[in-house]
Amino acid sequence: MPLIPKSHPRAKSLLIREKLVSGFDNGLVAKEGLLAQGRGEAFDYLLGEKTGKSAKSAIKAAAAQILLADLPVISVNGNIAALCPKEVVILAGQTGSKIEVNLFYSNEKRKKAIVKTLKNYGAKEILGTNSDSKAILSGIDSARRIIDKNGIFSADVVVVPLEDGDRTLALRKAGKIVITFDLNPLSRTSQTANITIVDNVTRAMDLLIQNCKKLSKKNRKSLEQIVNDFNNKKNLSDNIKEIKNNLTKRSQIA
Ligand code: ATP
Repeated sequence: MPLIPKSHPRAKSLLIREKLVSGFDNGLVAKEGLLAQGRGEAFDYLLGEKTGKSAKSAIKAAAAQILLADLPVISVNGNIAALCPKEVVILAGQTGSKIEVNLFYSNEKRKKAIVKTLKNYGAKEILGTNSDSKAILSGIDSARRIIDKNGIFSADVVVVPLEDGDRTLALRKAGKIVITFDLNPLSRTSQTANITIVDNVTRAMDLLIQNCKKLSKKNRKSLEQIVNDFNNKKNLSDNIKEIKNNLTKRSQIA
């Protein structure tokens, strides 16, 4: 008998929780990562737990931006390794992106567990584990300032799902184009990134993979057009309006 029956009205959300809890039990996720998920869930509820129109256009812009990159890097933390390791490996393979492990609450054991999980899903090379290729991201105090010379340090585009605001700002200051997934359109990360996908990473990663596949047939000019037509501030404002409309609907008495 499965722990969470499919018929449960909140089955999807509970299954995501289960993934994080087992990620925690298996040494991938930090305790603080569970709290971050909770903050995300609250915003997901307000968004109606679906991928909205604005998230879809951010996903399209993100796909175009990754395809245009010379050296795209996907930064992986414990929550991402627990929630969508397979999708990270597929996205990296499909777009020639490198994968780098970068943790806020750094700890070698956890790093190893994350690398093992990604390798189980077919990742060949994982950066962020070799002390010989360490580089420093300036303007940040946490362990996340340690980056890989051959990865984030050299990247032009960095995909940082579930990021914290300080590092997003530091990456921007270092001249990187930052793409993030964040359910909270008000977070510092959301407001600082170049492209913010306001959606649950468990829904949006698949859509990003599909968009990259579809757009890979387009020429550079069309991809540049998609990126140029995207405005992150406007998109965040549209996301907030989606939440507002959703709340207005729910506040009406039938
Ligand atoms: P900031 O420093 O950017 O203001 P924060 O302090 O809220 O943000 P964290 O506590 O590191 O940052 O949380 C990471 C963010 O990830 C949160 O804003 C949360 O909404 C978001 N988040 C958590 N789980 C998911 C998920 N499954 N999909 C998308 N976003 C998520």
